[in-house]
Amino acid sequence: MREREQLFRDGWHCVGFWHTHPEFDPTPSPEDRALAAEHARAALTLTNGMVFAIVGTRPLPAGLRVWCHTGSALIDMVAEVPRSEPTDAS
Ligand SMILES: [Zn+2]
Repeated sequence: MREREQLFRDGWHCVGFWHTHPEFDPTPSPEDRALAAEHARAALTLTNGMVFAIVGTRPLPAGLRVWCHTGSALIDMVAEVPRSEPTDAS
């Protein structure tokens, strides 16, 4: 808790959480939904929502699922894959 408070004073803020699921297409469990809602509501004075990501067993990027919890709703987000920049060798 002390470390968290110091990071907050230093300007670092928690914007979300991630974890893994042993399933091909990860979906939030009831406990995940409750945790995301609780954290989102607690952070409403600082943010409009908390990012919530789960990595499943499917290869990336499809195995990464991302949501945003607004405190009242869990919104499905699209995880975008950055385009790779051409290199001098290409
Ligand atoms: Zn979970």
